[in-house]
Amino acid sequence: MTPCPRRFHVETLGCPKNTVDSEKVVASLLADGLVPAERASDADLLVVNTCAFIEVAREESIGVLLGLSGDRKEGAKLVATGCMAERYGDELAAAMPEADAVVGFSGEGSLSQVMLRRAPDGVRDLLELARPDPTAPWAYLKIAEGCDRECAFCAIPSFRGRQRSRAPEAIEAEARSLVERGVVEIVLVAQDLASYGRDAGESGALASLLRRLDTLSRDGLLRLRLLYLYPSEVRGALLDSMLGLETVVPYFDLSLQHASGQLLRRMRRWGSGETFLALVDGIRSVRGDAAFRSSFISGFPGETETDHEEMLGFLRSARLDWAGFFPYSREDGTVAAALDGEVPPGVVAERLRELSEVQDPITAALRDALVGELVEVLVDGPGDSEGGDRLGGRVGRTHREAPEIDGVVHLGGAAPGAGTLVTARVTSASGPDLEAVVVEPCGAERRAG
Ligand code: SF4
Repeated sequence: MTPCPRRFHVETLGCPKNTVDSEKVVASLLADGLVPAERASDADLLVVNTCAFIEVAREESIGVLLGLSGDRKEGAKLVATGCMAERYGDELAAAMPEADAVVGFSGEGSLSQVMLRRAPDGVRDLLELARPDPTAPWAYLKIAEGCDRECAFCAIPSFRGRQRSRAPEAIEAEARSLVERGVVEIVLVAQDLASYGRDAGESGALASLLRRLDTLSRDGLLRLRLLYLYPSEVRGALLDSMLGLETVVPYFDLSLQHASGQLLRRMRRWGSGETFLALVDGIRSVRGDAAFRSSFISGFPGETETDHEEMLGFLRSARLDWAGFFPYSREDGTVAAALDGEVPPGVVAERLRELSEVQDPITAALRDALVGELVEVLVDGPGDSEGGDRLGGRVGRTHREAPEIDGVVHLGGAAPGAGTLVTARVTSASGPDLEAVVVEPCGAERRAG
């Protein structure tokens, strides 16, 4: 009699970089013969990929660990990994006796290899080397680990270490294997993406990498998307390749954090509202359909009402498609932790509200402006019962929506399968999402695999 395969459940918190690590863990478990559990409570192995970025993320990570621990079946193993496990490993292990293992990651090798090394014997046999997970038509691809910048609020360099860029040949090989299994949109991620290759003494390495990956369009790659661009680096050859290469979508995820030059200096970052606006306007003058996303911190120590007004003014002028606002979170060991000028929580909450009040109508107006337009949509898969099912069962994204981050397009009409591009006419906008009707497939045969 064949024994039942062991079942696993992986919970991912935090940013897309964690999703990449989780995909590797999932792939390794699949390769090892485990199967996904339908419910977490059925799993023999539970892995939580935690986030330590700010206090609320840490609280959420603990909550998820405790929740899964309480619901797990007898004998199931619980493993905490990710940023929180890396940064607060000993404290987490001491505070969470419910976890059977708390394992960090290293810059070398896959997360699962590291888990293999550090996990206790009880879970050791459940974890093996990574293989790709063959499900979605898009995938994240991590091109570097770590960061050489010293932003005053950020603890990431202290536990992710200095930047270590992967070799272009290795990245291309991974991209090729993704395309071979049907991935048509590759989302490049790193802590500081635009500095790719600088640790190897190369300048312009990201532009070269994009040209290299762009050639995979011959094999079926449709889109390359870049996340986390430090704004000072979006120029020259990189900007040319982002605007000129066939596969690179005109989506600019600029890591701005604030718009007051004075406060940005205090944050130890580059730029000002004027330079950011010049960058956005310059790109728009070449690509009128370029989409912009950024995130901003409110309440950094010393932020004055004038700084805050500058940020509001910038948002009104820049009219970004998407923006996220986060309260400043004091992180041990950072430069900002020792700064004076704490902004009272009530003031931060008020400023966050004002920022959203300015940005939300801008995002909504930009979405509304698409109604009636023809857009090119990559079909991601079946929709949910609220949108996609009602309209015909498909959900997708234009170049304006990054997977898992921005809105989606609910498709009506005869939409082909996941991984295909269609031309659709936008019929309505609702919150971040659009509804559209397929007009014609475009490039429907281009999907590899
Ligand atoms: S560039 Fe990003 S990861 Fe690096 S220190 Fe600044 S905020 Fe942190």
